[in-house]
Amino acid sequence: VNGRELPARFDPVEVERRWQEAWESAGLFRAPSAPTGAVFSLALPPPNVTGVLTLGHVLGDSVMDLLVRTHRMRGDATLWLPGADHAGLATQVEVRRRLLKQGVRLEELPREQAIQAVESWRHEHETVIREQIRRGGFSVDWTRYRYTMDPEMQRATTQIFVRLFHEGSIYRGERIVNWDPRLRSALSDLEVVHTEETTELLTIRYPWADGRPGGILVATVRPETIFGDVAVAVHPDDPRHAAAVGRSVRVPLTERVIPVITDPGIDREFGTGALKVTPRHDVLDFEIFRRHPGLPLPPSVLDEGGKLEGEWVPVPFRGLDRDAARLAVRDALHAEGLIEKTEPHQHTIGRSERSDAVIEPRLSTQWFVRVGPMAERSVEAVRRGDIRFHPDRWTPSFFRWMEKLEDWCISRQVFWGHRIPVYTCGGCQLVVVAAEAPLACAKCGGKELTQDPDVLDAWFTSWLWPFASLGWPEPTSDLARYYPTQVLVTGRDIMFFWVARMIMAGYQFTDRAPFADVYYTGMLRDDQGRRMSKHLGNSPDPLQLIGEHGADALRFALLYPNPVDQDGPFGRASLDGARHFLTKLWNVVRFTVGHLPASMEPPPDRLELPAGARLEERWIASRFSATVEEVDSALAAFEFTRATTLLHGFLWHDLADRYIEVAKGTLAGDRGEEAARVAQRTLSFVVERTLRLLHPFAPHVTEELWHAVPHSGEFLAVARWPSGTEATRDPAAEAEMHVVLESIRVFRNLRAENHLAPAEPLRAWVRVSDPKAAQALREQGPTVAKQARLAELLLLAPGAPDPADVATSVIAVGEYFLAVPRERSATESEALRRERSKLSDLLTKTQSRLGDAGFRTRAPPEVVREQESKVAELTERLRRIDGHLGESSTESAT
Ligand SMILES: [Zn+2]
Repeated sequence: VNGRELPARFDPVEVERRWQEAWESAGLFRAPSAPTGAVFSLALPPPNVTGVLTLGHVLGDSVMDLLVRTHRMRGDATLWLPGADHAGLATQVEVRRRLLKQGVRLEELPREQAIQAVESWRHEHETVIREQIRRGGFSVDWTRYRYTMDPEMQRATTQIFVRLFHEGSIYRGERIVNWDPRLRSALSDLEVVHTEETTELLTIRYPWADGRPGGILVATVRPETIFGDVAVAVHPDDPRHAAAVGRSVRVPLTERVIPVITDPGIDREFGTGALKVTPRHDVLDFEIFRRHPGLPLPPSVLDEGGKLEGEWVPVPFRGLDRDAARLAVRDALHAEGLIEKTEPHQHTIGRSERSDAVIEPRLSTQWFVRVGPMAERSVEAVRRGDIRFHPDRWTPSFFRWMEKLEDWCISRQVFWGHRIPVYTCGGCQLVVVAAEAPLACAKCGGKELTQDPDVLDAWFTSWLWPFASLGWPEPTSDLARYYPTQVLVTGRDIMFFWVARMIMAGYQFTDRAPFADVYYTGMLRDDQGRRMSKHLGNSPDPLQLIGEHGADALRFALLYPNPVDQDGPFGRASLDGARHFLTKLWNVVRFTVGHLPASMEPPPDRLELPAGARLEERWIASRFSATVEEVDSALAAFEFTRATTLLHGFLWHDLADRYIEVAKGTLAGDRGEEAARVAQRTLSFVVERTLRLLHPFAPHVTEELWHAVPHSGEFLAVARWPSGTEATRDPAAEAEMHVVLESIRVFRNLRAENHLAPAEPLRAWVRVSDPKAAQALREQGPTVAKQARLAELLLLAPGAPDPADVATSVIAVGEYFLAVPRERSATESEALRRERSKLSDLLTKTQSRLGDAGFRTRAPPEVVREQESKVAELTERLRRIDGHLGESSTESAT
């Protein structure tokens, strides 16, 4: 039914709820199971079940929904697959925190109960996450929802481990890992937050072992680790230490003797240029240790909880926590006179993202994935352009990262996650790696098989997401239809940890790129320019914003006006702007409904205007056609903010401020019934199509409004996406309308500059040299006069004298004169002089830019041409202004 009454104001919360339920119950977002024609699929990056959605999620989801809804409207078989990530360690930390508040320690619960506690946390949060995606109006296919711990994902993960192990790509090894002593687990690099902190740097003297006076000076911020030293290393080309090389020193506070060795990895600039080598507790030290096979591997001197331990630690220090040990060792060194210098030292410290504990580099036995060959294949794919990054300024960082990629530590010492499928026989120690737990040992028949207690890094499951979420390794029909996916949208903060690994997994396990395009959203900042983060508490709750302003306003504010791919501020101003825009849209549609007959037919497939159609009708049809084409090209280029800006401008300026303003009278019947009918048909068509174009950007309000205007079909969400060929491009109409709009603008400005009442009818003149412009003004004079509130508008012949007592403005189109009372003319020449000086500055700037040889070689030719024609235009305008100023000075002289 057309012409449904629209209230003056709308309640987004009520409107949005209603359409979310209607879309879902109509099953509009369910991907077809037997698609024909083009397919568009993408996976929603599964949010962690640890928490709630942030504004950053809403930004990514808004971009994805924009793509998804556009493709759905184009008729593509569209799948947007939602899911959630179990997020292993992160979840376990949250659950642990909650239990502690109830006085329960997670690690003391029996495994079954601990898992139950995590599961109930998961269910609560999953419900919240699903509700958030619904409230945002994001058109995911809920029937295909997946969770990284469901049985299918479990099978896929285990199978990948077993396969990589048998291919020799997974190995167990000793490596320095990021160790969190509070959580007693290894962490991935991602889970380490690096901050600049100041610590005390000690310069310690290691005395010569032969008892001669002196020794070698070593600077360190971690004196508590000296007990794990196996050598002091210096750079082979460092003359300061040349004499020390080959000698031995005594480890302070002990009787242990260690050699002074050379290694090219030593940084000569740091401290004294001599480094204590503690292989178990530092990445570089471990590398040096491996380059020097003669050095012994010490026993551990720090336990899993960060306490000093082991036979190399002197008894008084054993059992001390690392912080207490640092002070105790420093005091003991002081007492022995072995500290040469102490100074504050600013350096980078890694802290656990989960527990905030300072990371202790620690040598431990872990499972690793050999990533080298997989990384090479991914780099080649990106180089070939099989996978494209948007914006492409992130491509070089991808290459840099992949080049220095280290093997991936995938074991975690937590219980929440996919268990490592490795079993050890209690009888003969045979190690079995298998997807299913073996019932008995293949070698000795023993039945005591113990599974590795560790679990896999959660990324080891999520790197499989694009195909495992579609059923892989089973040859499901969804996998056949919807894999590979087309696009991935994510924040660049997980470019390496997730995007790079998904690319590796895609090629390794499916022999294909998992997606063709990767779009990185920017990072949101607050009004003060700070990154939004949970820690700063400056990240607003999206659900609260949706409750206050509506999901459409929030989504639109995230897309416009700050470029989606740049780190931009988000605050009150963005939301207000979005609300104003949606109100403008509402008012345009209310106006339209009020000016169309109730019996009006839905708009046709193509807008055909009769031969005598008015200029504004031909013009808005042409602008509509151009806008569709520009929006399509912006979307194809992943320029989402440009697409939003184009539609914003089209609705606000072209449709509302220009077309409707000009056509109001015609619509009201001022020019007869036939003209009114043409205007109604045009308005109805353009408004209905504009709602379609805006639907992916603000889905709820457009759906609501679409049902109020003449339309055919049940839902806007599945209406056909418009094409530029549905209306006629009319360059002549655009040029002519340009003259009209410029004329209106100039007269309005002249009025404002001269402080003339906006409604006072004034006489006006215009002199144009271009015959087409003259023709346009002859025909459209009444429109200009009406819009600019002129008593009359007269066209001056090229040679005719200027009228007297006027305010003047000269633009590219021509010379404009507005009658002003006689006493104002002095102000007038003053205004003209000001304009002259402005134009002359601009001319100088443009000329000097063009005179710069660098600019001419670097800038694209069309930019150079544009600048050249600007110079010509400015010169012409200045010439005309000088003419006027000359005349007026002649006048005043006589
Ligand atoms: Zn056995």
